[in-house]
Amino acid sequence: MELLVATHNLHKKEEIQQILGDEFIVKSLADYDLHDEIVEDGDSFNANALIKAKYCFEKTGIPSLGDDSGLVVESLDGRPGIFSARYAGNHDFAKNIEKVLSEMENVENRKAYFITVLCYYDENGAKYFDGRAYGNLLKENKGHQGFGYDPIFVPEGYEMTFAEMNPEDKNKISHRKQALDLFLDFLKK
Ligand code: IMP
Repeated sequence: MELLVATHNLHKKEEIQQILGDEFIVKSLADYDLHDEIVEDGDSFNANALIKAKYCFEKTGIPSLGDDSGLVVESLDGRPGIFSARYAGNHDFAKNIEKVLSEMENVENRKAYFITVLCYYDENGAKYFDGRAYGNLLKENKGHQGFGYDPIFVPEGYEMTFAEMNPEDKNKISHRKQALDLFLDFLKK
């Protein structure tokens, strides 16, 4: 079965191909000559994942997968949420972390979670799968691996940040992995 993943990021395509295995042929936007930036102007993770998946299905007729992820902080009323990638500066991870930490100065409650919402779209419409990784935020960066908010996020049950873990270990428990596992279960049925 062929699956079109709504991304320009070849790393994401490969990660999904690896998790789904050989029964699936994973394609990305470039494989279908789709070079437009898809405008993610939804007001929720689900809405953004739907925008991406629907765009791909409508352009190609191939079953498509859209995703949206972010960090949700309890004491910040859920921010940065859908604005995670551009909270302070567009894809400027250091600035985004700085803004979260400055908003949380003197805040005791450090609870947060990462979420990934996947939207699968085919001729039957949309289906959603979400995964969450719960944890706590530090007051300063620790570790150099990963990306985004990894240096300040300590997953529940661990004493190191996502940025201190090796990527294989992070990928076993990540929000993305959990969402993809649910999607895989659905595909197998
Ligand atoms: P995307 O929807 O996968 O592009 O993720 C949006 C933003 O959420 C990223 O730019 C990061 O700031 C943040 N984010 C998503 N997943 C992770 C993660 O696993 N670690 C750290 N930050 C993440």
